[in-house]
Amino acid sequence: MQAPDRILVIEDDDSTRRLVRELLTRHGHEVLTAEDGRAALRMFHEHRPDLVILDVGLPELDGWQTLERIRDMSDVPVVMLTASGGEFERVRGIRSGADDYLTKPFSLPELVARVEGLLERRRPSRADQRYADESLTVDFVTRHVTVKGEEVRLTPLEFKLLAALVRSPAETVSQQKLLGEVWGDRHERSSDPVRTYVRYLRRKLTDAGLGEGAIETVRGFGYRYCPP
Ligand code: CA
Repeated sequence: MQAPDRILVIEDDDSTRRLVRELLTRHGHEVLTAEDGRAALRMFHEHRPDLVILDVGLPELDGWQTLERIRDMSDVPVVMLTASGGEFERVRGIRSGADDYLTKPFSLPELVARVEGLLERRRPSRADQRYADESLTVDFVTRHVTVKGEEVRLTPLEFKLLAALVRSPAETVSQQKLLGEVWGDRHERSSDPVRTYVRYLRRKLTDAGLGEGAIETVRGFGYRYCPP
């Protein structure tokens, strides 16, 4: 059974917030709420929801400003709630990176349908759940890794690093991107942890029989997984 999707509802109007929360909880989702833009960003950062429902008219930061900051961190699906369904808002919403919008007063079944549709699109297809070449397999869901059919035990950080590399085989992944994906921090850390963990990972993989050059260093830029 898969974990419930986590939805962040950002709405300053008490009755709408409560209604949406109850509705989505009844549909089996885990619902977090925030009443203003700043609180929402803190919640977002801390809980990394799978989907966001965002009211345009909010105190502190308004919905557009909040959306902009969410987009700096993530491509999570966002449904905007707008007070008027004018063309201007729609164009602005899509340009700002909203995935969908609903005009108040909206119908509750409509909201559920939009939310389920966006969540469904996000769910990985079977092909996205696994990487495999003639030597290495990486299951992104079970976190099972094998080299030449033998299981390799990796720490959570080593696993994330390997997953980030094999998700785009033969392409160079920058140190910055690896920091962001593996350590979740794009700006503040040095590249030292990447170098250190690439070393650990290489050692485990070559001990298990993968070729020395499988994880290639691209000097001054990043690393690349080279399928055999
Ligand atoms: Ca509002």
